[in-house]
Amino acid sequence: MVELETFEHDSISKIGGKYWFHEISEEAFPGQAFSLEVGEILHHTQSEFQDILIFRSISFGNVLVLNGIIQCTERDEFAYQELITHLPVMAHKNPKRALVIGGGDCGVVRELVKHDIVKEVTMVEIDSMVIELSVKYLPNMAKYHNHSKVNIVIQDGFKYLSDLANKNEEDKYDVIITDSSDPEGPAEEFFQVNYFKLLSNSLKKDGIVIMQSSENIWLNLNYVEDLKQKAEKVFPNVEYSQCYMPSYTSGQLGLLIATHDTTNDLKKPSRTVENEDELFRYYSGKIHESSFVLPTWADKQINGRK
Ligand code: SAM
Repeated sequence: MVELETFEHDSISKIGGKYWFHEISEEAFPGQAFSLEVGEILHHTQSEFQDILIFRSISFGNVLVLNGIIQCTERDEFAYQELITHLPVMAHKNPKRALVIGGGDCGVVRELVKHDIVKEVTMVEIDSMVIELSVKYLPNMAKYHNHSKVNIVIQDGFKYLSDLANKNEEDKYDVIITDSSDPEGPAEEFFQVNYFKLLSNSLKKDGIVIMQSSENIWLNLNYVEDLKQKAEKVFPNVEYSQCYMPSYTSGQLGLLIATHDTTNDLKKPSRTVENEDELFRYYSGKIHESSFVLPTWADKQINGRK
């Protein structure tokens, strides 16, 4: 048990007799910070790759924080995990093999195994401690880490994809989900043109990739535009989608989805699922389509639509 009174962390301070976690990043969120009241520190450690903090919040359940940045909270994680998973899986006609890069909390794996059509899920996470701690403190997220369809590889995702580039078509993937942390830290390389090339070489011909965009339209529209242009240097069909995510700074998550298949309208599901409202809490066919509708000023800048 970690005593809050004596616990010291750059992200936690005492205000008016209560303890608060502040998500502060001069680089990513200059001039603003999201805060959560802390109930209890569940775990704190410095792994080989990053600072890992897990606390019980007063209003958002248990919270996983890497290098001071919130990765997920028990209250709203399903919005992120469902959209980043079901957009590519439902936009693909026959997604048999799925790859997750990062994803240590195992929430994306939980969503992938819901699809009978998905036969094989590989997750490549650099830091085994994130998985171990998620199994302990985020049990609902990590509940399928041992599922028979799931194969977990502890490795740098960049290295895994580099090795895959020289393999045969049957070793490549239908869907690749980059569920990484933000660019500051071990995920830095995921936000560069070279990474899109690696993804492209690891995909089957009609495969689909998706990644969290780190920034969103309120935080840094120029960054989102720039990231989309990087993806367009490699993929001819790229779209930007977003969802409500109260625990991410400015309340939004941005996702970039791409494919080489120019006949696939990524903004529409290519299949239907019968028991949609039993399987999913956030995703639906309607949410799929509406997540690509952007406010006018952002649409003009990101998509060049006048
Ligand atoms: N949903 C979260 C978000 O958007 O903030 C991301 C969740 S998941 C916890 C991110 C994972 O990416 C972390 O567990 C981290 O260890 C992993 N990661 C970062 N860099 C990586 C790399 N180079 N290879 C594989 N996994 C990596």
